[in-house]
Amino acid sequence: MSWSRQIHLKSPAELQIMRAAGRINAEVLATVNELIKPGVSTADLNAAAEEVLRKHGCKSPFKGYGRPPFPTSITVSINQELVHGIPSKTRKLKAGDIVSIDCGTILDGFVADSAFTAGVGEISPEAHTLLEVTKGALYAAIEKMRVGNRTGDVSAAIQKYVESRGFFVTREYTGHGVGRRMHEEPQVPNYGKAGTGIPLKPGMTIAIEPMVLGGTAETRVLPDRWTVVSADGSLTAHFEHSIAVTEGDPLILTVP
Ligand code: MG
Ligand code: MG
Repeated sequence: MSWSRQIHLKSPAELQIMRAAGRINAEVLATVNELIKPGVSTADLNAAAEEVLRKHGCKSPFKGYGRPPFPTSITVSINQELVHGIPSKTRKLKAGDIVSIDCGTILDGFVADSAFTAGVGEISPEAHTLLEVTKGALYAAIEKMRVGNRTGDVSAAIQKYVESRGFFVTREYTGHGVGRRMHEEPQVPNYGKAGTGIPLKPGMTIAIEPMVLGGTAETRVLPDRWTVVSADGSLTAHFEHSIAVTEGDPLILTVP
């Protein structure tokens, strides 16, 4: 069986559910974004996210995911932490930090997955550029999510956008199909070759997520077995949307 046959194409009805899940996920992230200021603990951010999810009768696929089971509904990753930071009461945001928030929402059996990075108070020009480049890479990639293109076109767009601006993309963590499960086929790395990979078809739903580093592509995992940091301690950023391929323009599922 070819790899592409494992990809579940969503029906219009399923896409409607995923769009609704994406709206709720956007509400969660907007609520957390409002709270980002110096002195707030990362556990406070998770609590606010869980309140929004509860209000909609939803859960995050992050909680209980993997080994050891991830303990919270969002990940909060600060500065050199690229992804998968674990919220805690003792970890407080400081002015000048950049903080990445990643959240998933399960609605009626379908998952939405999205992330953003924001500054805490005033941030350095270098940090600001990193955020702009990472977000720009996400939108450059979304623009490639069209019938006639392949997953490699999406990957190559991210890599080119980031590396031409002097930053680095992770090799270890990738974008991914999303649907009934948080991680489905196909994988969409943040680097690749245009014209290669799986042809994009209407009904494919993929989480595109540039993870960008300031000084090197190398990462390591902290002893908590979750938090991924840049190997050299340089700043990192992460933006993500869940996208549906359609007959026309790409449909961003995880916006309000
Ligand atoms: Mg995510
Ligand atoms: Mg994801």
